[in-house]
Amino acid sequence: MGVEFIPDLIPQGANNRPGTPLHPTYITIHNTENTRRGANARSHAEYLKGQEAVQRNISWHFTVDDKEAVQSLLTNEVGWHTGSSTGDQQSIGIEICEHEDCNFEKAVANTVELVRDLMKQFDIPITNVVPHKHWDGKNCPRRLLAKWDSFIQQIQADDRMKPEQQQEQPPTQAQSQQQEQPPEQARLEAGCYGHKVRDLQQMLQAGGFDCGPMDGYYGPRTEAAVRNLQQLNGLKTDGVVGPNTWKKLELLKDPTVYTIQMQPGETLAGISKRYRVDMAELIRLNPEIANHQLVPKRLTLRIPMQ
Ligand SMILES: [Zn+2]
Repeated sequence: MGVEFIPDLIPQGANNRPGTPLHPTYITIHNTENTRRGANARSHAEYLKGQEAVQRNISWHFTVDDKEAVQSLLTNEVGWHTGSSTGDQQSIGIEICEHEDCNFEKAVANTVELVRDLMKQFDIPITNVVPHKHWDGKNCPRRLLAKWDSFIQQIQADDRMKPEQQQEQPPTQAQSQQQEQPPEQARLEAGCYGHKVRDLQQMLQAGGFDCGPMDGYYGPRTEAAVRNLQQLNGLKTDGVVGPNTWKKLELLKDPTVYTIQMQPGETLAGISKRYRVDMAELIRLNPEIANHQLVPKRLTLRIPMQ
């Protein structure tokens, strides 16, 4: 994943996010038909959250530009982007930006990468990667239709030698510091996809929560790991990563502390004595338990390394 993925979902309950379950067997490619300067992935995601998109009953899953990809719908829910209910009910929709200040070739390359990942994730064959035109005859994606075959070839190409692969090398000091930034408290849940999910998976693994392969896809195993973390920490067990769960995950990253599991009936005072750790320090590292003297359920507690 060389391209940066950002989740910015359409609010739940909005008309253009019906919440109908999707089991994607197709990927549908579009162009935004918007050449206005600055009409990038973020601005289209913003548009999907606005009144006009709601009134027009349109939505799609990803918008990709030359720098990033923004996710507006979960991959397990239907969007309205093909002009046909058959298409909508079977496909993940990807809009490729074409604003005048966009490097279109790069936006296409980023889309190729996303399509490959989604094909792998959902076992979608290349024959089911289709232009919007496939469903209702619309001239879309207008910039790619004339060279559709070469777009498909690009997806199929073996590009192990491409320079972009170098990005998989270990990050430099500066890059890794950048990645240590809190992940913008993005809300993540089943069906989310991208870098933020991979960050989450790394944090879960680091904390000893098995979430399966680090594939950047928030599937059932990642959700189970999150639920496990939430349950052990007395958080709401909803499998959704919101601010409280992020806070807990941040603590898991701290290399100067390690985790113990408290048993029912154990007290903080008991832990403090057993591990010879000051109570104030315990509370600093475990802010969510500040008001509990007696911890009611099993919970993961951060203890400073001696
Ligand atoms: Zn289209």
